[in-house]
Amino acid sequence: MNSIPPLDLAQQYQTISEEVSKAVLEVLASGRYIGGPPVQDFERQFAAYVGVEECVACNSGTDALYLALRALKIGPGDQVITTPFTFIATAEVITLVGATPVFVDIDPQTYNLDLNQLPAAITSKTRAVVPVHLFGQPVDMTRLMAIAESRGLAVIEDCAQATGAEWAGRKTGSIGHAGCFSFFPTKNLGACGDGGAVTTNDPALAEAIRTLKEHGSNRRYYHEATGINSRLDAVQAAILLVKLRYLDTWNDLRRQVAARYRHLLAPLPGMILPQELPGGRSVWNQYTIRLQGNRLDPAFHSTPGSYRDQVRSRLQERGTGSMVYYPLPLHLQPVYADLGYQAGDLPVAEQVATEVLSLPMFPELSPELQAQVVYTLKDCLAVPAPLTSG
Ligand SMILES: *Cc1c(COP(=O)(O)O)cnc(C)c1O
Repeated sequence: MNSIPPLDLAQQYQTISEEVSKAVLEVLASGRYIGGPPVQDFERQFAAYVGVEECVACNSGTDALYLALRALKIGPGDQVITTPFTFIATAEVITLVGATPVFVDIDPQTYNLDLNQLPAAITSKTRAVVPVHLFGQPVDMTRLMAIAESRGLAVIEDCAQATGAEWAGRKTGSIGHAGCFSFFPTKNLGACGDGGAVTTNDPALAEAIRTLKEHGSNRRYYHEATGINSRLDAVQAAILLVKLRYLDTWNDLRRQVAARYRHLLAPLPGMILPQELPGGRSVWNQYTIRLQGNRLDPAFHSTPGSYRDQVRSRLQERGTGSMVYYPLPLHLQPVYADLGYQAGDLPVAEQVATEVLSLPMFPELSPELQAQVVYTLKDCLAVPAPLTSG
């Protein structure tokens, strides 16, 4: 049996290597490596793709979030509500601008921010909400915007895992006040290095972000704010322009992979499969199942780690890659110890973190290899203990 990686970027490159090489060589020959036509073209085309007026390219998804918060003048004394079940960058930038992250528990079906619990977390200090469209699955933005607008809050969408996803027919990143994207290689639209962008329909916000990402300057060598240096390189922009043309095709292939997983995994015991909300169109950055620890066979009781951890190491022994996103929710991370959260405060996120397992997911994953993943997984699951009488 072949070993199967969680994702295979080299395989994707093979399918577009000629176009990418040509685009990169053109930039190299141009002598213009910072800014220039590829970056401007990418900003224009990506804005059109997302369906917004403005796109500002920058160096990473992390910078995109940071710049959006700064441009909205969120800082010391402010609270920003977000999910504890995300990559650290989402909360890190809230801390970096001097504001305080407030974590609200997640919905057990989507693993996104639980909107039922959102209103109770809003205080007089709350300035913004940062929803994360986790694993490619969009948050119910209709409901979120209604809550935010009624309370005067800004909404910054973390779209890092959801490039091309849709809620109610609109692309994520076009619904909140700002959308923040990452072009890290593993994302749905990935560069060959770092990259990011902010999308918005607010020209003043876009202008503020442009100034901040260029050292607080919109006139060279005159500075009106303390900014940063955050650029999308011309080489990365040229690569992204090629890949943007394939994004919808790749996202459709991911949807097919997800549909096949659902079909193949449905008969297996003891797992919860991801589900889309009506109105949402996921782009399946990850296919993440939950393995519940209530079907332990005796062999599992004697070894340490959660049932999920044990299944994962069994998979690894058989050459099948899988990932855990994320093993420890942010409210329990050492870096946030001083926020005062305790284990048990956000029980859904805490439980889900011990159960999630992301299976191999990439557009080029063949039906044959996928069947092999499921066959191997079946082999690695605990056999339910036989019922004993008496
Ligand atoms: C990847 C990611 C980021 C950060 O993007 P970078 O480009 O790596 O800085 C932020 N939020 C989420 C949810 C992510 O998955």
